[in-house]
Amino acid sequence: MKNRGPRLVLLGKQGAGKGTQASQLAEHYGVLHLATGDLFRAAAHEGTPLGVEAQSYMDVGELVPDEIVIGVVEEELARSGAARTGFVLDGFPRTVRQADELERVLDDHPLDVVIDLDVPTEIVLHRIAGRRVCIQCQTPYHVDAPPKEGWTCDLCGGDVIQRDDDTEDAVMRRLELWELQTLPLIQFYRRRGILAHVDGTGDADDVFESMVVSVELRTADEA
Ligand code: AMP
Repeated sequence: MKNRGPRLVLLGKQGAGKGTQASQLAEHYGVLHLATGDLFRAAAHEGTPLGVEAQSYMDVGELVPDEIVIGVVEEELARSGAARTGFVLDGFPRTVRQADELERVLDDHPLDVVIDLDVPTEIVLHRIAGRRVCIQCQTPYHVDAPPKEGWTCDLCGGDVIQRDDDTEDAVMRRLELWELQTLPLIQFYRRRGILAHVDGTGDADDVFESMVVSVELRTADEA
């Protein structure tokens, strides 16, 4: 493996398992895990101006405006130096404009691979209905796989709750926006020749293995 981590984007519907897989991949490669939804939820929890503004969109399942999201991602990439060292982007880009802007920000450090984590809509709806998340560190849980003690996070002791935007109306709106705004990114990255598909329906460990294989295949020539 080369002397830097991969520059990776994970695409997938809400509930496809992006968050879990992205944090494992980031740990595996020792790179930054940048999840825009987690950033906005943390800011909303702290009540910062960014959080207050983002929450008004998140609560109804709408996308936060591109300028705001791009600003946040640009700042995080600059602060961490991750354009050089590698990263896993989770939940960004979500529109073609965000994808264009990401190319501008990355400049001469282009993406290595974009993984489309594919899960049918019926399955994601079932997953989202039972989904719970730690309000503090964002660790995901499910009613079928709860924390060990009550609804308290195993990792940080924070409260584990249902997300405000996991209501049926907000979920339907987010899935609709995914089809309209995010699906075109699959074509965008296919044209760039860096798209890989991974079936996200199986066991989480198997999905992780398939993702690692996809990353290795696309970064092997730089070894
Ligand atoms: P997620 O945790 O990825 O499902 O994101 C939760 C919410 O945060 C979304 O429904 C949007 O309101 C907002 N959000 C996260 N990432 C983005 C993005 N790249 N563009 C616009 N809105 C976003």
